Amino acid sequence: PDQDPAAGAGSGVAAAGRSGRLVGLQTQDLSAWFGDHKVLERVSLSMAPGEVTALIGPSGCGKSTYLRILNRMHEMVKSAQLAGRVLLDGDDIYAPGRRPADVRARVGMVFQRPNPFPAMSIYDNVVSGLKLAGIKAGRARREELVETSLTQAGLWAEVRNRLRSPGGALSGGQQQRLCIARSLAVEPDVLLMDEPCSALDPTSTRRVEETIADLRGRLTIVIVTHNMQQAARVSQNCAFFLATHDTPGRIVEAGPTRQLFEDPRDERTSDYVNGRF
Ligand code: ADP
Ligand code: MG
Repeated sequence: PDQDPAAGAGSGVAAAGRSGRLVGLQTQDLSAWFGDHKVLERVSLSMAPGEVTALIGPSGCGKSTYLRILNRMHEMVKSAQLAGRVLLDGDDIYAPGRRPADVRARVGMVFQRPNPFPAMSIYDNVVSGLKLAGIKAGRARREELVETSLTQAGLWAEVRNRLRSPGGALSGGQQQRLCIARSLAVEPDVLLMDEPCSALDPTSTRRVEETIADLRGRLTIVIVTHNMQQAARVSQNCAFFLATHDTPGRIVEAGPTRQLFEDPRDERTSDYVNGRF
């Protein structure tokens, strides 16, 4: 509806997700605990379809936990508990009967440390995304998905002639783009990225940022970053999380990235984005 006219979302490029359209993600009063330790407090946030939302804030304020809750990955930790709702395209992903595997097939994740299967070929690494999501595809379809997702990840030109080489033979930055391709092969509606460039050199970081820019408008992206310049470059919307020694992580301020950086409403936001803590 009220899309920025410059947004990829309005450019007519087809949505990359399997549902064939752009899908939003929303949390309502989301709180989280590890055992007795409350780590998130009533986090309400809308992540707009086809846009990039950056999550910023100091270490330990719950950004990774929040991200993992968005695709039910936090459930792998036994002590984790949740209150509130997560809506994917308006549907509660924690409603009875919803399976974590189905959620993860629609909401992919890329981590700080590139984690391809090092001995597995580049081709098979991409295909492994499908297998992990329980998606069956014939050979022709697999080949198509491998090329499409490597292209979207900005890696196709570099690897098209060595798809049988091991993933571990790639540079760190290429490995991270391979991991992005592996996530994209599933054709998710949402891609979650937890500090995807923290382990990369500046050139590789730039390539990943270009990939994110290209993906804008094709799927919904949520990226955690400690790099304020990066948040300003890649995101349209931004949420600033903060925890203190006795209060769980919560959102201090969320809104258009430009507003948080240039005209923040809260002094703590101003201090954080300007590197004062
Ligand atoms: P951030 O990503 O912003 O640095 P995290 O989400 O990793 O923050 O951590 C938020 C809080 O949750 C921290 O206090 C951290 O110690 C705690 N925490 C994170 N993961 C676990 C876990 N598996 N078990 C117990 N506590 C955890
Ligand atoms: Mg983290």
